[in-house]
Amino acid sequence: MRSAFQGLRVPCWRALFAGLCLCLAALYAATPAQAGVLTHAELVRRFPAPLIVGERDTELPVWPLFKQNATATELVGYVFESIDLAPIPGFAGVPLNLMVAIDPKGVFLGVQVLSQHEPVFLDGLGEAPLLQFVQQYKDLSLKQNISIGQGAHGAARNDAANARIDGVSKATASVRIINQSVLAAALKVSRKKLGFGAARDPDQIAQVRSDIFAPRTWQQLCDDGLVQHLRVSNRMVEKLFADSAGAGLDSTALSQPDELFIDLYLAYVSVPSIGRNLLNEAGWRKLQGRLEAGDHALLVMSSGRYSITGEDFVPGSVPERLLLRQEKLPIDMRDLDLDLRLAQGIPAFDSVTVLRVIAQAGLDPAGSLDFALPITRSKGIVYPERITRELPVSYRLPSDLLIPAQASSKSWQGIWRARQYELAVLVAGLLMLAAALLQQRRLASDGRRFAWLRRIYLLYTVGFIGYYAQGQLSIVNLTGAIQALLAGRSLEFLLFDPMTVMLWGFVLLSLPLWGRGTFCGWLCPFGALQEFSHQLARLLRLPQIRLRTRLDQQLKRIKYVLLALILGSACIANAWTDRLVELEPFKTAITLNFVRSLPYVLYAVALLMLSGVIYKFYCRYLCPFGGALALLGKVRWLSWIPRRSECGTPCQTCRHRCDYQAISPTGHVDYDECFQCMDCVVIYQSEQKCAPRMLELKRANVIPIHPVMNSGESK
Ligand code: SF4
Ligand code: SF4
Repeated sequence: MRSAFQGLRVPCWRALFAGLCLCLAALYAATPAQAGVLTHAELVRRFPAPLIVGERDTELPVWPLFKQNATATELVGYVFESIDLAPIPGFAGVPLNLMVAIDPKGVFLGVQVLSQHEPVFLDGLGEAPLLQFVQQYKDLSLKQNISIGQGAHGAARNDAANARIDGVSKATASVRIINQSVLAAALKVSRKKLGFGAARDPDQIAQVRSDIFAPRTWQQLCDDGLVQHLRVSNRMVEKLFADSAGAGLDSTALSQPDELFIDLYLAYVSVPSIGRNLLNEAGWRKLQGRLEAGDHALLVMSSGRYSITGEDFVPGSVPERLLLRQEKLPIDMRDLDLDLRLAQGIPAFDSVTVLRVIAQAGLDPAGSLDFALPITRSKGIVYPERITRELPVSYRLPSDLLIPAQASSKSWQGIWRARQYELAVLVAGLLMLAAALLQQRRLASDGRRFAWLRRIYLLYTVGFIGYYAQGQLSIVNLTGAIQALLAGRSLEFLLFDPMTVMLWGFVLLSLPLWGRGTFCGWLCPFGALQEFSHQLARLLRLPQIRLRTRLDQQLKRIKYVLLALILGSACIANAWTDRLVELEPFKTAITLNFVRSLPYVLYAVALLMLSGVIYKFYCRYLCPFGGALALLGKVRWLSWIPRRSECGTPCQTCRHRCDYQAISPTGHVDYDECFQCMDCVVIYQSEQKCAPRMLELKRANVIPIHPVMNSGESK
């Protein structure tokens, strides 16, 4: 009996694919965008008196919280849903929805989970660890750099600038997505409502390297662009006002056009390679004493008739004559009121001022610092018309003085960086596998050696990919992607799990070469567990059941039905998807290491035991993910298993030897069901097992015939 999909030819597959795309597009058009669920009445219930929940803001989806204080009504915070402001999809492709409340200073009043579909928390670890995780935000501040640690390292590093909260073991990627959702949503509110975090997420910016210093002269600092210079004459300023009401209003500029208006030098003085060259030792130490972690200091040195501090400048205040913007967003600079001495060899200036930008302003030292000197002229006496023109100066630090933003532990780049050694081991394992499979005949030339190599690789798959690196690919990857695409969200959430991305990359490369067998035969931790369970059963001499071909073919269709059910539910009924994906025992056996409620554990153990007597029962008949890979594997263009004209007629050795029952009586290989175990490749090359080869050799009178038709050597 042919497999249900065997008869489909390429055009049919194209038609099927086109139909699927059309269905997805129709569903996409019909699916409403995700939005918050809280109503005013619900919020009143959650924030009872003496708190008062105000009306929802018209600009931003936030509700103000007030408190009656004697006769005044005082604003005590804002409450909002993360899904409205930062709908970052979780691992099921659906964003978590968290209710977040912050006070006017950016301190978290609390975070609560409204809805979540994270597979690891649904019937897995349960919601309790998730609820404990979000409780840790209470009393932390948006002005702190909030990162996720593990266990005992938890609160130990909390200070004014940093806070570390405990992660959740086995749910590392999920809690990072939650942290990203909470902070991204809260920062949006703080920018609009609280007036800080104006430029960007402070966690997504580069950091200045404090570990490098090279002595430089004043001239070298200027030549390298570490000190920026602007020299402007009166004539140039007058030109700025030409054709405006401000033209000709400055008598000095008109009478002494070539005289100096301002000679301005700007330097990022908190960078050691700049500051320690510009300031004397005492000045550098004094500056360090006034800066908090992450603060930036800018040194402004000028001469000429125009000073950035002006006559009515109050020390310690924000200068009005020098502005800083980054990506067009204004960033506050405040005078540090520091009397600093410049180092020897630095020219003398009429005015030297140090301005501070606090860490929470979100200034990115890797971006362009766009300074502007506004020059204002007034015309008229009673209601004077004010005309302002700006002199621009741009400043950019060279990259060798910076730690790039990717080092941030919250972004997905940070996660990749943090797991770089695990990724290196995975890449090495994948390269070894690819190299071995490209030389399959050499690899399979010695059956006994090959069997051991395969066992060792499967141990690596279970131990490293499965239990250590948590890299079990799953149908949840597909349902998550479908749900995210249908809701119009990006697939960026997948990048929070680098192991999965790397494995998918390898699988997508291997599908056109070898089909689904490369993943299912070599890289699936649960598949490898079943193989070991089978080997144990054989050692224990348990009876082995080989189903009749017809029954085997019929049962193999079940996985496609399950696949259709799960993918269909992902398109129309998310709640069903959460239940249906539990057909996969991967979460129980690999992710949660069998630490789960009894029914799930019994199910996973039963499948493993069944594999002991019916070879890879789950893989061959039930696995929806295997079914999906078999369908994706239709793109395979190599028929990589060597065949002889005698295969099938009359020789049936490989067919009987293939425990996956992937070889038909005619000798053809059904690659949809082939797990690349290479037993048939071993037989093909064997001078003791392959009957046609033995006959060939006999005819050549090379070896005697001692056929071994059913050796278990390679299992
Ligand atoms: S069929 Fe499923 S369980 Fe078996 S190896 Fe493939 S993905 Fe893993
Ligand atoms: S023995 Fe069967 S499963 Fe193994 S490689 Fe050959 S056809 Fe594929």
